[in-house]
Amino acid sequence: MSFVVPNTLKGFGVTLKQVFKKPITQQYPEYKRPVYPRYRGRHQLKRHENGLEKCVGCSLCAAACPADCIRVVPAENTADNRVSAGERYARIYEINMSRCIFCGYCELACPFDAIVLGNDFEISEYNRDDLIYTKDILLAEPIKKVPVADRDLYDTPIPYYKDHS
Ligand code: SF4
Ligand code: SF4
Repeated sequence: MSFVVPNTLKGFGVTLKQVFKKPITQQYPEYKRPVYPRYRGRHQLKRHENGLEKCVGCSLCAAACPADCIRVVPAENTADNRVSAGERYARIYEINMSRCIFCGYCELACPFDAIVLGNDFEISEYNRDDLIYTKDILLAEPIKKVPVADRDLYDTPIPYYKDHS
């Protein structure tokens, strides 16, 4: 019993100490914590500066995907319908985001930097079908802008749980 009171007081002391500390809770979604520069979020399909799509429908990304969530159906470019800079383009390009594990292998496998993983992490949906991203969705500029942390912090990230007081 004699140990209980000091230990209890010690416990209260720890609690009391926290009361006067600045809270580190961040109010999401009002505040979005910056992601690190190499964060792997929502995919984007890229275009060349002249507007042609970088993707040539080679399916290397689909072959590299361990979750088997990329579907590419290629078609030939023609003089009347040139979509990409190569011989072929992706007539259909889909990613099933509900299966994606954000490993980034698709980005690594692509010889033309056509598919990249961006910063957006707000990709939840109410409907499972909405998680199948079509080519139009992937080619569109992302609406949500997620802040990116200072690159200098990347190699020495400050853990979010660190005591900032
Ligand atoms: S990030 Fe990985 S799992 Fe997701 S589409 Fe690319 S290769 Fe597949
Ligand atoms: S995104 Fe890259 S790897 Fe995938 S089909 Fe297009 S060009 Fe090939």
